[in-house]
Order: sequence, then C-alpha cells, then structure tokens
Amino acid sequence: MENKHYDVLIVGAGPGGIFAAYELTKLDASLRVGVLEAGAPLGERRCPINGTTVKSCVNCPSCSIMNGFGGAGAFSDGKYNITNEFGGTLFEHTGKKEAIELMEYVDQINCEMGGAQTRLYEGGDPRLYKKCLENNLHLLKASVRHLGTDVNRIVLENLYKNLKDKADFYFRHRVSTIAKTESGYTVTCENGEVFTCDQLIVSTGRSGSRWMESVCKDLGLQSRSSRIDIGVRVEVPFETFSELTDSLYESKIVYRSKKYQDKIRTFCMNPHGVVVNENTNGIITANGHSYSDPKYYTENTNFALLVSSHFTEPFHESNAYGESIARLSNMLGGGVIVQRFGDLIRGQRSTPERIQSGFVRPTLQATPGDLSLVIPKRQLDDIIEMIYALDAVAPSTASDDTLLYGVEVKFYNMEVEVDQNLETACKGMYVIGDCSGVTHSLSHASASGVYAARNLLKARNA
Ligand SMILES: Cc1cc2nc3c(=O)[nH]c(=O)nc-3n(C[C@H](O)[C@H](O)[C@H](O)COP(=O)(O)OP(=O)(O)OC[C@H]3O[C@@H](n4cnc5c(N)ncnc54)[C@H](O)[C@@H]3O)c2cc1C
Repeated sequence: MENKHYDVLIVGAGPGGIFAAYELTKLDASLRVGVLEAGAPLGERRCPINGTTVKSCVNCPSCSIMNGFGGAGAFSDGKYNITNEFGGTLFEHTGKKEAIELMEYVDQINCEMGGAQTRLYEGGDPRLYKKCLENNLHLLKASVRHLGTDVNRIVLENLYKNLKDKADFYFRHRVSTIAKTESGYTVTCENGEVFTCDQLIVSTGRSGSRWMESVCKDLGLQSRSSRIDIGVRVEVPFETFSELTDSLYESKIVYRSKKYQDKIRTFCMNPHGVVVNENTNGIITANGHSYSDPKYYTENTNFALLVSSHFTEPFHESNAYGESIARLSNMLGGGVIVQRFGDLIRGQRSTPERIQSGFVRPTLQATPGDLSLVIPKRQLDDIIEMIYALDAVAPSTASDDTLLYGVEVKFYNMEVEVDQNLETACKGMYVIGDCSGVTHSLSHASASGVYAARNLLKARNA
C-alpha cells in the first residue's frame, strides 16, 4: 500500500491540533493537511461509566474522556482563561502582548462557532482583590469565557464541520513512531498505516505524555520533567463561594503556607458543577466541570487545591512521583477517595454513613476513605492551612461537611525543548499544546496551535 503524503500532518485533534488545522487551512487553502487522532470522532466519544451497570473506570484502550476530536477539553467546562498569569507560558515564546492577542483570536473563533451568547467575565470587583490580600491570599487577574460543557460541545461540532472538507481526519489512528527523513517525516500508526509529510505538528496533550517521551528519545530531542501539582478537589455548597464566582466565575487564588512557605492555589473552579473522574494512563484522579445551562446546575461548587512540587537534581521523574500517589489512592479506594474535612481534621476516615449524614451532597460517587493515608504530610498540611485561609474570604469553606476528593494531580508534561516558534531541533517539526510543556489550558493550547501554524507557513514560504 502506498504511503499517504501530506504537506503538513498534525498528530492529535485536541484544542492545539484543531486550532493549528484551522489556521493552516484558513491561511493556505491549497495546503494538504492530515490530522491523525488516537480517539473517536466527537459524536462517538462515550465513557461506559453509567452509574448503574458500570460504576467505575474499565480502562478502555482509548479513553473517551481524554481522547478523540476535542481532546481532553471536549467534555470540560470550557473555561477559556485569557491571561498570562496561569494556564501556560506561551508568552515566553510569543511575548506577553501577542500571547493575549492569540487567546483573544481563539475566543473570537469560539464565538463565531457558537459561543457568542456565553458570558465573558472581565476584571471583577476590586474589593474582592483587597479582601483576599487582607487575608494573605492573592487573587490572580484574568478574563474568562465560560462556554460550559454544553456550548463547548456545540463549538467543537461547528469547528469540525468547518474543517472536515479542508483537512483529512483519521480517527482511531494512534501514532506509534515518528522518523525523520531527508525531506520531512514518516509517521507510523499502531494499525500499521504509514503517512509521510513535509512538516509536522505534534499536539498529543497530557494523555500523550508518555508517548512523547519516547518520541523525544527516538529523535534525540531534549526534554525535562521537574514539576507536579498534587492536591484534592474541594466541594462546597454553591453559596460558600458565590460572592467570588458571581463576579469572576473562576477565582484563581494563590496562598503561601506559613509552615513550609509552599505555594498552594485554587484551580478549575466550577460553580454549580460536578466532580468527575479523570483517567490518565489508567490512573484515576479527580477533576470537575459544570454546564452553562441552568437546567444542569447542581447545588455545589467545586475547585481543586493544588500544591506545586518542583524537583531538582538528581530526580527527573516528577510525573512518576504523582502517579505513585494517585495509584496509592486507587489501591485504597478503587478510584477516587472522598473524605469530609471534619473527618480529616479529627484523624478518622469517612464512611458512607458519615458522608450521608453531611450537609454537602457529593456529586461524584467516590469511595469514602482517609486521604491522610494517601497524600504526603507536607502537601496535606499545606491544603489544610489554605482551607482555613479561604474560610476568611469564603466563610464555611472549613466546615466539617466540606468534601475533599483525592487525589487530584496535575501532570505536567515534560518540557520539550522548542525555540521561539515552537519548532524543535528537528527542522519542520513543531510541538505544541500540553504535550510541549508550554501550555496547560484550553486557551493557551489553542493559541499555541494558531501560533505554530503561522510560524510553519512563514518557514514554508520563506
Ligand atoms: C475533565 C477536564 C476538565 C478540564 N477543564 C478545563 C477548563 O475548563 N479550562 C481549561 O483551560 N482547561 C481545562 N482542562 C485542560 C484542557 O482540557 C487541556 O489543557 C487541553 O485540552 C490541552 O489541549 P491539547 O490540544 O494540548 O491536548 P489534548 O486536549 O489532550 O488533546 C490531545 C489529543 O491527542 C490525541 N493523542 C494522544 N496521543 C496520540 C497519539 N500517539 N497519536 C494520535 N493521537 C494522539 C489524544 O487522543 C487527544 O485527543 C480540563 C481537562 C480535563 C481532563
């Protein structure tokens, strides 16, 4: 069988890959673009967990939550944060002004594709920033477009409609190897199909992180892995955080612990949301999202509290460290563990009865247990200290009934060495989105796709 040749191949159809395809085909309609995606088309992505016959993860060969058109973001809350303060370090490559312009461009496309009616939260009440500062908490500044899980899906459907006749999509095509040739790249899929291309964009996200390590080894690309964020997902009644969420939707708050001087932050806040399982390489961790349609509102708000650990020589396996902690929680709880804050403080495990007797109704069916047997002391002390600090700006955060789901881990992909244009030392090969280590959010990953596409075309036409 003859190899299929493309001008540009994109590996991965998450936000990074989608926006790269969008920009390439918009700027040069004659370009032959192919997209290889390990997962299924959007409409065929279905997680088998139904709460009745299948209650927990059955480790599908390709996880419908993480893989397929739309990537890890497809069923997410669709919060596009337009900021350089968090979500990635794209600005280190583009400059701060251009990074914001790229994220605004992505927002404009999302609006054209069906997101126009959603709310853009801008700025927020200055009194909230002051109130946080008075309590040693730092509220970060950002504009947030909240598409919501439902509108996010509509936007993705429209993006696919827009792209399907301009680029060739190959679903259920997991790439196994990439080889450099004299004139470009040979890309081989697990099913044996072989593709060639002049230029290549790799955007395989967090779920492709392991695989990316092998690609770096094969091609001699430099990479390093030094950061991991470990913590819990907190679930409280909606009213607890409503002053902040009504004004900002998502408040990113950073706290420096008195005991260890560690930085702890809130992450991915979902007013009226649900807590969900996330499957990364077969390891189940907690995450959360919410719908913009009030019909799906829950009575709770959830957010993560994460402690960042940065490792130095000789340890390079930060992801393996995070995985071992997550595995421990899976070993004890068969998946995610849930514990009442009051139980944690009293040194007792939560039981189904104790959860049942609480005033906060859990939105995820997790195993009641004891997080102190899983999360290292340092991180757990940090989390407890921040919960008490948050209680000063959002009273009742430190209530006995506050639910903590663990563990939540943010795996940072190793940072692949890329230049200002997001091009690797292998000419014509760009690594973007979360698998590059440069981004870890929808807006940054999407913006990196646009940026790489523009740079690739410049290089092609030079
Ligand atoms: C439950 C959940 C909620 C989230 N909520 C938010 C949010 O509200 N806001 C926010 O900013 N971020 C959120 N995130 C994070 C966000 O989804 C990611 O930062 C973003 O999707 C990264 O985009 P990406 O294109 O780099 O990678 P991904 O979205 O991970 O896409 C990568 C794609 O590559 C494919 N792939 C992997 N390996 C291969 C291979 N070898 N061959 C072919 N294809 C491959 C995968 O199947 C996947 O479809 C959330 C994540 C999760 C899991």
